[in-house]
Amino acid sequence: MGLYKNVENGETTMVWKDSWIPGVKMGELNPVNEEARQFTRLAIMESWEHINLTLGFFCEVQTTFWKSVWKLPVQSRFKVMRACLGIIPTVDALERRGMQINEPCVLCGAEPENVFHMFFECQAVRQVWETTRFNFSSWQFHNSILEWMSVEWGGWEREKQCVFIMAVYYIWEARNKKKFANETINLNGMWAKVERQWDEVCVARNGIPLDVDTPSNLLWEKPRAPYLKLNTDAATKSTGEGALGGVIRDSEGLVHGVFMASAPSLNHSTLLEALAIKKGVEVAQQLGVSDLVVESDARLVTDMLNSNCNHASLLSLICLSILDMCIGFNDVQFQWPHRSSASEPLPADVIVAGGRRFLADQSI
Ligand SMILES: [Zn+2]
Repeated sequence: MGLYKNVENGETTMVWKDSWIPGVKMGELNPVNEEARQFTRLAIMESWEHINLTLGFFCEVQTTFWKSVWKLPVQSRFKVMRACLGIIPTVDALERRGMQINEPCVLCGAEPENVFHMFFECQAVRQVWETTRFNFSSWQFHNSILEWMSVEWGGWEREKQCVFIMAVYYIWEARNKKKFANETINLNGMWAKVERQWDEVCVARNGIPLDVDTPSNLLWEKPRAPYLKLNTDAATKSTGEGALGGVIRDSEGLVHGVFMASAPSLNHSTLLEALAIKKGVEVAQQLGVSDLVVESDARLVTDMLNSNCNHASLLSLICLSILDMCIGFNDVQFQWPHRSSASEPLPADVIVAGGRRFLADQSI
């Protein structure tokens, strides 16, 4: 049994749109090359996972630069600067090893993918490098990251070095999400994420250890008189706009004030949490409160408020403005809730959550 179709000179034949096999509709047959593409992706992923960057390998390259990267006070996951070596499995690197990939850069879909293109030359990332307060534009005078770094790295201040390697990491992460999970690339919030990471480094350097514990339950502890307690919360609405909420209660649990407010989208929930605290302190000030305990689940914000950070970041600026407002109080304490099992259920969070829902409804 077989099939026969007369193609003749091809003018009347639509290769992809015609129904070639009786009983099989157009579109039910997957083009073979899509499957091949999937296999290639898996192969790339696998080879990436199995690349073993041994110490011996590092010895062959610019050890001074590497040592300097590894000394930077950022989490090791950001130190993916092996990209400099051109040994990460970009399409270009794999093709040089004999694998025929034939896929363009996943970010722009136009140019061949190599390390320098992916992180700097690509149209999809160029703009990203132009929207930071550090000047990274000199990449244009170089042909590889390593060459560029060997000229400039040593002259950069530590914050610029940290910001740089964190940004490279986030671009790499976005590229992989697009390539392997087909997620949409959105680098708009990248510098906000980088800045939060830098905030954490600065707070940690001020002697406040950061850990990732989250409160284990939603119980609320009454403040000791004469303190009133402000609990705040923030969320991002589906529109991207921020929603802030808070409640101020006394040592008897009586509510003295509740607020809900909208905030511009700041690309980062921590900034919204800081704005919620700022708004809450403002409300407490208007209520004439003199002794205040501020409680927020945003550990980075409460830690920064308790530290002496004054480095240049948006979060740091918001925190400084909160501390300025506190001058008018007798005492203000910032705490991240260490809730014990002996405390009572928390109507405060419920009210804040209610405010959040209220604001979310308003935006529909
Ligand atoms: Zn590209």
